[in-house]
Amino acid sequence: MTDRRRAIPGTDTVLADPRLAKAIDLLGRALVKKSVLAAQNRARAGEIEPESVIDEAIIGLPVSATSMQPVINATGVLVHTNLGRAPLSQTARDALSLAAGTTDVEFDLATGQRARRGRGALQALHQAVPDAGGVHIVNNNAAALLLTAMVLAPGKEIVISRGELVEIGDGFRIPELLASTGARLREVGTTNRTSLRDYRQAVTEQTGFVLKVHPSNFMISGFTADVPVSALAGLGVPLVMDIGSGLLRPHPLLPDEPDATTVLRAKANLVTASGDKLMGGPQAGLLFGDADLIEKLRRHPAARALRVDKLTLAALEATLHGPPPPVVSALDSEVDIHRARGIQKRLPGSEVVESTAVIGGGGAPGVELPSLAISLPEHLAAKLRRSRLPVVGRVERGRCLLDLRTVPPEDDEKLIAAVLACM
Ligand SMILES: *Cc1c(COP(=O)(O)O)cnc(C)c1O
Repeated sequence: MTDRRRAIPGTDTVLADPRLAKAIDLLGRALVKKSVLAAQNRARAGEIEPESVIDEAIIGLPVSATSMQPVINATGVLVHTNLGRAPLSQTARDALSLAAGTTDVEFDLATGQRARRGRGALQALHQAVPDAGGVHIVNNNAAALLLTAMVLAPGKEIVISRGELVEIGDGFRIPELLASTGARLREVGTTNRTSLRDYRQAVTEQTGFVLKVHPSNFMISGFTADVPVSALAGLGVPLVMDIGSGLLRPHPLLPDEPDATTVLRAKANLVTASGDKLMGGPQAGLLFGDADLIEKLRRHPAARALRVDKLTLAALEATLHGPPPPVVSALDSEVDIHRARGIQKRLPGSEVVESTAVIGGGGAPGVELPSLAISLPEHLAAKLRRSRLPVVGRVERGRCLLDLRTVPPEDDEKLIAAVLACM
C-alpha cells in the first residue's frame, strides 16, 4: 500500500506534463489542479493505478472554464426555462463571439465620435416591426415592465384585469413587480370575466396607464370574457400590452398568441416582450411603441440600470438578420419519420413512438405540436442527464422519451453517441 502511494506522481510533476500545461493555458491553473488532485485521490483509494494519474487527470478536465454544461434538450419543450430558454442560432453565436472583443458598439468609426449604442440591433428590430414608432431594448421583459411603470405611473395607478395578474415563474409575480416601483394597481373585473365597462369605471385622472398582460402560461376556459386591445385603445390613457412570448408577426400554428405587429395596429401605445422565447434570441426585453413614449423610456435614469450589454445586442441583431433560429425551426417543422427511424436503428432496443411537444414557459399554453420520440428504458434517463454531453429527456409511462422536435438535426450524431455511451 505505501509503495503504491509512493508511486503516485506529485502534483507539480503532473502539472508539468505538456498536455496539462496546455490545459492550464486554456482553463487556468485552478481548474486543472482540481482535476489532478481528484486523480491522485483516486489512485490513493486504489481505484486507478498510480501510472494512470496523468491520463485520468486529462480525462477529468472540464471542457470549458464555465461550470455551465451544454445540454441536448430532448424534452419536447421548445422554450425550456431551466435549460436557458431559446438556444441561439449559429449566426447569433458567431456574432456573440465577435462582440466579445473590442467593438464599435457605441462608437462611429467614420467620425471618431460617440454613436448610438446598439444602433444595428435597434434598426433590425424596427425593420422587423415597422408599425412601431420607436423601439428600445432592456435586460428582459420584467425590466421592460418595470421601466414602463416608472415612466408612466410614478405615484399613479395601473389599471389591470383580475384575470391577468400573472405569476411568471419561480415566485415572480407581475403585480408585485409593478407595485415595487411605487405605482398602485387598480384591479378590475373578476378572474374569469372583465368588461370594457369595468375598465372605463376605473380610469380616472389618477390612471398612469392601462396594462393588458397575455396569460402566457395558463388558460382560463368556460364562462369567460376579456376586452380586446382595440377596445381598450379608446379610453384616453396610455395602453400597454405585455405580449410575453415575443412573436413579432402572427403565426399560423399559434392563433391565440398575440404578436407585436397586430397589437400595435390595434392601437396599443406600447408593447413589451421577451427576446428569448418564441423569437429565439438572447435574453432581452423588447419595447415597441409610440416614438415619444419610447424616447421617455430611453431617457429615464433607470434605463441605464436596465440596459443590455454588447453581447446581447450582437446576438439579437444576428438573430433577426440570420436564418430561422432553433426555436422557430422546431415550431415550423415536424420531425421527419426517416430521421427518427435512422436514429432508432442505431440504438439497440429503442423504438420510435409518437409524442407531443409543447411551446413551454415561452407561451401558447395548450398548443400541442405533433412529434416523434426515441423510446428507451426508463433507467437511462438519469444516466443520460449525467453523461459527458448531458441529454435531458422526458420520463413518461415507465419509458425515457427523447423527443426529436427540440433536437436540432445537426445534433443527431451527438445524441446517438451519448445514448450509446450510456447503454
Ligand atoms: C415570460 C413572461 C414575462 C417575463 O419575461 P422575462 O423576459 O423572463 O422577464 C412577463 N410577462 C409575460 C406575459 C411572460 O410570458
